[in-house]
Amino acid sequence: MVGLIRGGYIGRMVRVNLTKLKVKVEEVKPDFMVSYVGGSGWGARLIWDEVKPNVHPLSGKNKVVVATGPLTGTLVLGACKTSLSSISPATKLYGNSSIGGMLGVELKQSGFDALIVEGASRKPVYLWVTDRRVEIKDASHLWGLGCLSAEDAIRKELGDAEVSVATIGPAGENLVKFACVMCDRGHQAGGMGIGAVFGSKKLKAIAVKGHFDIPVANMELMRSTFDRAMKYVNYEGGDGGTVRGRVRMGDASCYLCPMACRRVNVIGKTGIKILSPEYEETAFLSMNYVLPSMKDVVYGGWLCDELGMDVVSAGTVIAFAMECYERGLLSREELNGLDLRFGEAEDVLRLLGDVARRRGIGNLLAEGVEAAAERMGEEAIRIAMHVSGLKALGYDVKAALATALAYATYGIGEHSDGAGAITYDLKAGRGRYTEDQAERVSYLQHVGLLLDCLGVCQLPWVRLGLNLEAYREAYEAVVGVNVTFDFLLRRGKAIYDLTRAINSLRGIYGGRGNLQPWFKHLALSGALKGLKPSEAGSEGCWTRTTRLEMGCEDRDPEEGKAYRAQA
Ligand code: SF4
Repeated sequence: MVGLIRGGYIGRMVRVNLTKLKVKVEEVKPDFMVSYVGGSGWGARLIWDEVKPNVHPLSGKNKVVVATGPLTGTLVLGACKTSLSSISPATKLYGNSSIGGMLGVELKQSGFDALIVEGASRKPVYLWVTDRRVEIKDASHLWGLGCLSAEDAIRKELGDAEVSVATIGPAGENLVKFACVMCDRGHQAGGMGIGAVFGSKKLKAIAVKGHFDIPVANMELMRSTFDRAMKYVNYEGGDGGTVRGRVRMGDASCYLCPMACRRVNVIGKTGIKILSPEYEETAFLSMNYVLPSMKDVVYGGWLCDELGMDVVSAGTVIAFAMECYERGLLSREELNGLDLRFGEAEDVLRLLGDVARRRGIGNLLAEGVEAAAERMGEEAIRIAMHVSGLKALGYDVKAALATALAYATYGIGEHSDGAGAITYDLKAGRGRYTEDQAERVSYLQHVGLLLDCLGVCQLPWVRLGLNLEAYREAYEAVVGVNVTFDFLLRRGKAIYDLTRAINSLRGIYGGRGNLQPWFKHLALSGALKGLKPSEAGSEGCWTRTTRLEMGCEDRDPEEGKAYRAQA
């Protein structure tokens, strides 16, 4: 079957070694393409093969795999996604973030399915990828710039306003554990701290522009698949009554996506337009801090973008500091004189800058909620909101029990893919277990991962209920290989298991298996009063059968067990 691949894949990836300043182009074998699908599937296999379990996330031996999927850049709803995989400084486990913008589309049009970055440069550099070439360019003059400013500077330097730029800001340079990579003004690979991995390699940015066509096996079938999928698109989004007319300027879309679910807002009187806040940003910069003004929320979103910090992670760590302040676990002196009360915008916004630059208390908070709480003691650990060291998303799992299970078992900690289970919770009802819950959560996790591997956004499926058959049809049209959806889903499961296997080699079996104490407290007041999740299971780890199916050799999990104690 694999010999019949006629589109979707370019068949080539490029490896950049920043220690040796060498670039090497490699062919990709067809059976690798199909078995690991693309995106995070390719990333997981390459990290499994090439990064030993005792490698520190911020050492030159860690790698970043930037990989597109077979559907990236084609006529499929939301086919703009590119995956960044690495060992995460936030969790010390396998980490993956899916990023929008034009990065993956341009990478494929440059003649590469994927880019592997390894080693570490001595001085700041950026990569310029265009038409089967990669140049390692000096970035000393860009070091210290914010993400949005660096993007502008690189486009100006390259003389092309349409170059796609993925860059880090001060947070990545200062190795903030949840630093993100920001792409094309508002698309983040956030939370897993891959921005810090860039920073440890002195890699400021990747700039890409290509001019080749992306091969599609059957353009006619592709068009008819797209036309059928368009019937689902009648998306108007939320009403946004609070935002509309005050800060909101209009809607925006990713590459060839008719959903246009992004929102363009403007910061105060500056005229600066940004692609935020979205619902998570609103939750974490508004409700979390009790900031009453949408203008402060929009400014906070812009600040996080410019500093290169994932908004949700930054929101979580600062809200944690606020609660510690209220409970007397942090004094005003320890907070550099900040009066960190809920509802006060000024000091919250100042603290964002201190975290990105590791100033004062910002240095501790830059380590993330888990590490900061561990250093502060038992009461802090009890109120810390994270799963496997990752940010807490905006769903309270006391009422969403399938989501609780997803948080506890997802291969890379709490993650929006795992939280896709919220759709199931909404149907099941608040605080309700159902018999098929574990099976359903597992299914959602595998589908979510499969869509990441294909290079498409999950929202048309999650929000519009786009039939999954549409993705199978699209795969067939683009790649030219007939498959069943079950075949693709089995790939999703196997790749999910592989991410768990990487983690088991790093001393963690089946995720951390349990939720942090905060998630298990009984809600004492409010709408969720009396609810709490029971212990969530953590089964579903790597089996010998899957290992054989994926062609991965046996490795001794004992190998990585001592790692966490050292890291
Ligand atoms: S659904 Fe929204 S986030 Fe996803 S690709 Fe379309 S516009 Fe972008």
